[in-house]
Amino acid sequence: MQFEGKKILVLGAGISGISVACVLQNRGAQVTLSDSKSAESLKNKDFSAIHECGVVLALGHQGEELLQDIDWIVVSPGISIDIPLIKIAKTKNIKVMSEIEVAYQLCTAPILAITGTNGKTTTTTLIGEMVKTTDRNVVVGGNIGLALSQEVDGVGDNGIVVAEISSFQLEGSISFRPRVAAILNITPDHLDRHHSLENYIAMKERIFANQTKDDYIVLNYDDITVRQMANKVPSKVFFFSRKEELESGIFVKDGMIILKWQGKTYIVCPVSKIQLKGGHNVENALAACGVAFFAGVTLIAMVQTLFKFTGVEHRIEQVTTINGVTYYNDSKATNPESSIKALEAFDQPIILIAGGRDKNTDLSVFMTLIKEKVKHLILLGEAKKRFEVAATEHGVSHIHTVDSLSEAVKLAHQLAEDSQVVLLSPACASYDMFTSYEERGKIFKQLVYQL
Ligand code: ADP
Repeated sequence: MQFEGKKILVLGAGISGISVACVLQNRGAQVTLSDSKSAESLKNKDFSAIHECGVVLALGHQGEELLQDIDWIVVSPGISIDIPLIKIAKTKNIKVMSEIEVAYQLCTAPILAITGTNGKTTTTTLIGEMVKTTDRNVVVGGNIGLALSQEVDGVGDNGIVVAEISSFQLEGSISFRPRVAAILNITPDHLDRHHSLENYIAMKERIFANQTKDDYIVLNYDDITVRQMANKVPSKVFFFSRKEELESGIFVKDGMIILKWQGKTYIVCPVSKIQLKGGHNVENALAACGVAFFAGVTLIAMVQTLFKFTGVEHRIEQVTTINGVTYYNDSKATNPESSIKALEAFDQPIILIAGGRDKNTDLSVFMTLIKEKVKHLILLGEAKKRFEVAATEHGVSHIHTVDSLSEAVKLAHQLAEDSQVVLLSPACASYDMFTSYEERGKIFKQLVYQL
């Protein structure tokens, strides 16, 4: 795809939109960057890169006049392709694509693409670490950090790109073709945007739509929706399973990770050697090994990475140990399902700090597990009252309510006994008290270090 001389409208002035606008302008396109937010509400945003490279900025009302003479539209992941302006654009035969499609067009290196409802960042980062053991120039991106289109600029033919891909990004993919793809799991998510589970699944399936028999797809055998995709894929299927022994693929048997492919069997390592915590992370590790295998990573390098990799910040992240009590930051757990994964990851008694902005999700499974595993439950934020009522109903004892994270950490410190675990896993969004889950996690870590 030639971008030179094209008139391109980029929608959404977030990280992705700003990056892709600059990349395209620098490639000789004439770019307008539009955001429906007003200049006043975006006054603190840094548009210096946009101004420097000569992109036209159009803030506020997104009227049809924006489409005048436009050849292509690039949509940021935060914007649905169902908005009226895009619908009008389609009637005018303006091509609509996502930022990853641009990245794909610019990239001469093979792409390893990871999607799924949960575990994308962890798996992508782990694969990145594995691939870095080869002598190739590795770029890790997508939903993580900078926009992929900016990251791939200049990676070169000998490089390799590891990309986390969300369903939003797949919505506007056209010819995006990863050399190796992985689908980790599918549970209902973002249905406000995709309208139905069927649509959401269809979006995820776009990751393999352009693959050929020379490409590979790593699929979760234990997830029935994902397993069934094997019937539709044009590429070579490689399953992973935590629960069942497979004829071909990667799986766990008698505590060992075993990889079988084209009649050969490889013993990878004992599951117990994986540093990541929790059964869900065993799945992420299996998927990572599958992708890395087809990316040419040696078994020994794979194993060494599994022995070292302790995870990504804010996801059951070990902070420190004080008087035999280990503190974990799981601030990324913004719903009960994620916090359940964290509770399941520990055998020791837990002092759990939970609460935040309430998403009004069902709490019964979460509270049942809390009753079983949590010694003291410390609640904070807007959700604390509802969580307290649910916990009491489920027979949880030792419930404490506090007004700040600082109070919660101090109380946890007082209550925790040798060999126990203090876990921040809020099961709630952070916006009642913090700007993001990242800020909440960082403040938690500072408070722990102050102890
Ligand atoms: P994503 O990028 O898809 O949001 P992350 O790697 O950031 O995924 O993990 C976010 C949360 O999702 C974790 O804190 C954990 O609770 C949950 N999670 C991670 N991996 C899995 C998995 N394989 N299956 C189910 N839940 C998972």
